Amino acid sequence: MAETRVYVRSGSYEYEKLRPLIFGLLSMLDQGRIRQQSRVLIKPNFLAPAPPDRAMITHPLVIKAAVEYVYEKGALPQVSDSPAMGTFERLMHEGGIDVSLRDIPVVCRPFKDSRVVDIGPPFNRIEIAADAMEADVIINLPKLKTHTQMLLTLGVKNMFGCIVGLRKPEWHLRAGIDRERFAELLVRIYATVKPAITILDGILAMEGQGPGKSGMPRELGIVVAANDAFAVDAVVCRMLGVSEDELLTSRVATKLGLMPENIAIEGDLPTVHDMQFPAMTPLVFGPKKLQGFMRKHLIQRPVCRTSLCRHCGECWRYCPAKAIEPEMQGLRFDYDKCIRCYCCIEVCPYGALSTKETAAGGLARKILKR
Ligand code: SF4
Ligand code: SF4
Repeated sequence: MAETRVYVRSGSYEYEKLRPLIFGLLSMLDQGRIRQQSRVLIKPNFLAPAPPDRAMITHPLVIKAAVEYVYEKGALPQVSDSPAMGTFERLMHEGGIDVSLRDIPVVCRPFKDSRVVDIGPPFNRIEIAADAMEADVIINLPKLKTHTQMLLTLGVKNMFGCIVGLRKPEWHLRAGIDRERFAELLVRIYATVKPAITILDGILAMEGQGPGKSGMPRELGIVVAANDAFAVDAVVCRMLGVSEDELLTSRVATKLGLMPENIAIEGDLPTVHDMQFPAMTPLVFGPKKLQGFMRKHLIQRPVCRTSLCRHCGECWRYCPAKAIEPEMQGLRFDYDKCIRCYCCIEVCPYGALSTKETAAGGLARKILKR
């Protein structure tokens, strides 16, 4: 049975050490794909404008090393993503990416045009960034972060950034409140775009209520890389003590026969016992007739800390269900409409939103000993 190799390396953002580390990984994983004049798309995690020490985005020096490698091969590097909030230009500036890439000829631009692509049932035809579909090679540079809706955001989920702009929340709504269905969408997008190489930045990771400003940076000092992001995600789960079944993208990939069966780890995989994960509650459970009631009363709700809210409007503009309205002080949520996708928490630039257990949900959990 063919082996899928996953490379685990300890690292820091000290560039003299980071550059050879990333070059070494790329030269093992490239396998002759990156040639003179190939168009190479480098896809980081560009969630929102934030300095690197907030751990919200792929570190600028990881991006820089990948760009330099591609450039030195005589290929044409391009750095692109579609940030969930804020402009690409602001992100490049606040994230320090413009400074780190300043002396290298590289195209940096947000995804703009899309192409309709068939990703297979049940979603079929969806629009994916043309730059991603037309690149000769894609280097996927995800960040290791916790995620309020999906537990973790790693290699597979990073390719959701290839859905351009407001099409993202639209797909959240279409995938509905069913996390597993949303995970299947992520898996199908990843399998369609199919980056050739994934290098995960877990040097400064994020824990708690990630992946946005409500999460907390956590130093793990780790880089995980492979040709296959399903394998990268599986190895990260092993490191964090998360079963592959708990990470829904891995569960779905296994069901669809996409998870490599024979993963060989090269390097020392540490064990992280005390990673703080966001509290997860199932979004769909119980008899169908009661699901609306249960969702409203038992599942954690997004709530706003009025003292932190600046009424910037990012959350209500992004909310796919249009369930948020501004009030004189803070926000009003329509919990009947809210599909509990937690996108609002993800995009809030001030960390003003978080999830809150309902009284009935807490009681039910105690009874069920969840
Ligand atoms: S909760 Fe956050 S995103 Fe929403 S309006 Fe307030 S500051 Fe802006
Ligand atoms: S209020 Fe927040 S959690 Fe609810 S649907 Fe809107 S973005 Fe999603």
